[in-house]
This record gives sequence, C-alpha cells and structure tokens, in this order.
Amino acid sequence: MAAQVAQERVINFSPGPAVLPVPVLERVRDEMLCLPGAGASILEVSHRSSDFIAVQNQAEARLRRLLGVGDEHEILFLQGGARLQFSMIPINLLRGRSQAAQYVLTGTWGKTAVEEAKKEGPVEVIFDAKPSNYDHLPSATELSINPQASYVHITSNETIQGVQFPGDLDTGTAPLVCDSSSDFMYRPYDISRYGLMYACAQKNAGPAGVTVVIVKKELLDRADENLPGYLRYKNHADANSMWNTPPTFAIYVLGLVAEWLEETIGGLDKMHALNQRKAKLLYDVLDEFPELYIGHARKEDRSLMNVTFRFSSEAAEKEFLQGAASQSMDNLKGHRSVGGIRASIYNAMPIDNVQALASYMRDFAQVQA
Ligand SMILES: *Cc1c(COP(=O)(O)O)cnc(C)c1O
Repeated sequence: MAAQVAQERVINFSPGPAVLPVPVLERVRDEMLCLPGAGASILEVSHRSSDFIAVQNQAEARLRRLLGVGDEHEILFLQGGARLQFSMIPINLLRGRSQAAQYVLTGTWGKTAVEEAKKEGPVEVIFDAKPSNYDHLPSATELSINPQASYVHITSNETIQGVQFPGDLDTGTAPLVCDSSSDFMYRPYDISRYGLMYACAQKNAGPAGVTVVIVKKELLDRADENLPGYLRYKNHADANSMWNTPPTFAIYVLGLVAEWLEETIGGLDKMHALNQRKAKLLYDVLDEFPELYIGHARKEDRSLMNVTFRFSSEAAEKEFLQGAASQSMDNLKGHRSVGGIRASIYNAMPIDNVQALASYMRDFAQVQA
C-alpha cells in the first residue's frame, strides 16, 4: 500500500503549498499516532504540555542557528498567513506616525502589501516595476531610501513573476521589512540588517498554517497598547507565541524541515549552493533556446525559486504542459497575470527532479526546431 502511494507521487512544481522533503513526510507519518515520549499524537497534545513546548523550542532554536538570529530579535509563530502580516506590519509600525513607510514593488505580492499599508498611514512607493510587468529589481542607485522612514518594505522573492533579491538590502537606519514567504531559508542571511522578516511556511519551509515573524525587539514598543490583542506583536512576544493556541502541527513540521536543513543538507550555505545549481539547470536551457523559451525575469534578477517563462504560441504551451504531464511533471502552469510556465523549485525539490525537467525542456526544444 505505502509503496503504491509513493509510486503515485508526481514531480510537483506547485508554487505553494508546495513540495516537502520526503524524509520529513516519512517522519510525520511514523510519528503520527504517537509523538515519541508524549503518549499521543502531536495533533492531540496541549500546546501547554511539556512535549509540545519542547517541539516549539526546538523549532525556534533551529531557526535561530540556521538564520543566525541573536538576542536582538524575537521569533514569533503566528497564524493568518503572509496576508495578515500585510496588515499587522503597518498596524504595529506605521499607524499614528507621520514618517511614511517606503515600499519597493517588484511584483504582485508587494503591490498587494502596499494596498493594506495605505489603510494605516502614509506610504511612499519608491520603486514600481509595473510598466514592464514586474520583470526586474531596482538598481543599487535607483532607491532613494529615507533614513527617517517608518520602515522600508521589500519582497525578497516575487513568487508569481520569479524576480528575487540576491542579497540583504542595506537600508541604513530605516528598518528593513521583508516578505520572505517564498524564499525563507534558501540562503544564509545577515539578520542584523532586518527590522522584520516574515514568511508564511507553505512555500519554502513547511505546511500552511504557520507564519514566522522575526522582529527586532526595539520595534515592539511602537504599537499602541490598545490594539486588538491578536494584532499586537508584543503580546505574542511576551507569551512565547502562546498568547493563544499556536498552530501546533504546522510548527512541528516546520521544525522537522529546519532539522532536515541543518542535519541532512548541512546548513544554509549548502542549501544556497544547491539552489544555485538547480536553478542553473533550467536557466541554461532558457538561454540555449531563447526563441522558444521566453524568460520573464531579466537575467540578472532571476529567482532561484520560481523559474518563469512563456512561449510565443499558445499551442506550444499546451503541448509543453501535456508532454510534461505524461512524464509526471505537474503544476507547471504559470499564474494568469504572467502566463506561460512557472517551475517552482523550492529547497525541498530534489536536484534529480529539476534535471528531469531540464532534460524534457531540451528534448521538447529539439523536436520543435
Ligand atoms: C504566497 C505568498 C503570500 C501570501 O501568503 P498567504 O499565506 O496566502 O497569506 C505573500 N507573499 C508572498 C511573497 C507569497 O509568495
């Protein structure tokens, strides 16, 4: 039975919820009836039990080690997805202030985030790549960051367009706020640069249900004490993310993914090198057949997580997707706002599966020629 189920698994290029490491899924299966030592399933134990507290503390400790998070930052495990953060960030860090929050728009998610921020206070869009359908990043000299800004918001990886910042932006004294939902933990970071980093887990770090917020402690006191309780970061920080019942199962799986990153992959340097190798397999094919595969992102701004391209004809796209499906490659259709193909190759996507797609793309191009 188990072997049959395993055989039915496709090569899953879903943008999210997305592929998880198979050893993590196996561990979840093995521990489903009884979390070792707990006498019950992770789904059945209290969040106040010592068993769950150990699970959450482990997850947090692993994130701290992997990302190099020190004492100046809190790590929170919240619900509501990245979308709630689009609101919670300006509610806590912008409401009632006169200094604008600056937003850098490199794709659909940043654009969605700024719409929520406008409801809370003054906002300044300092870069917007919309005229070219979000195919590039700002150049180093293009951003005029106000050192007094309430914060500067970027989206490190635009999941739909496949445009990614390759490093940690320096925003000086203005706190950097970063939506890392679709590339969380894909490389090592200089966390000291970040006022707040947030990521829903279901793209690159775990299952849907938990959102990680890494926030500088000094920013926690900005928010009004009378905010609705759930919306105030400080309540969650003071209660070790147990202000209300946290998403226990999602935190458990996130912890297992972090364990896999540390112990199987060997840390974020190794993960980054692997991600670079995986993405190169696909981008090399785009560059080899530029008349067939029209890449969306500018070369220098390409994402290592979401590889986006299209065809000059709809017929070719349809044929490409059908051929891919016949080789068990699934969820390759791009988002409707960009069209074409999107191959999401997150941390957990094995390099052999990316190689399979690259080979298929090369074969397809040779038949078309
Ligand atoms: C998916 C995604 C979101 C939205 O996440 P939800 O958990 O559905 O709210 C926000 N930002 C980015 C970059 C994403 O990829």
